[in-house]
Parts: sequence; C-alpha cells; structure tokens
Amino acid sequence: MKYCQLSDDGSCVERFVCPVEGCDFTTRLGPGALRMHLLIKSDPEVGGRYCEAHDRFCRAHAGELGLDVVRYLSNLPRVQVD
Ligand SMILES: [Zn+2]
Repeated sequence: MKYCQLSDDGSCVERFVCPVEGCDFTTRLGPGALRMHLLIKSDPEVGGRYCEAHDRFCRAHAGELGLDVVRYLSNLPRVQVD
C-alpha cells in the first residue's frame, strides 16, 4: 500500500513511508508526521528544506494525503513499538 510499509506478515503497518521517488524518509510516528514531511518539503518558504520532487508530487496528487486519508491510515493496526 502507498504511504505505508506493512509488517512481514502483512497484518499491520510497520512504518509510514514518503511516496516521493528517491526520498527515503520513513516514520513510525504516524501519518500526520508523514503529511508534515510532505508539506514542509514542498513549501519554498521553508528555507533549506524545499525539494522540487516533493513539490511536484504534492501538486500532482493535490489533496491526496488529506485529513481523511490521514485518519484512515492512523486507524490501521500498527506494529507496536515500546
Ligand atoms: Zn520525502
């Protein structure tokens, strides 16, 4: 599934991954953190962190990782980490 990497048995989410090609950002924090990553990287106002590939992705998939999707993703069963 896009945006997340499942555990080996496919039963739950191992981590959330950035869908932009060439970017190796992953997080266990949740889909909100992933969304923030995409927003920050595609905002030219944020000095130094701007990335054209992320900007292009966000334009092409505008609204794709909206709040509904974030909510959906955050309700998926997740690998428990302590
Ligand atoms: Zn990324």
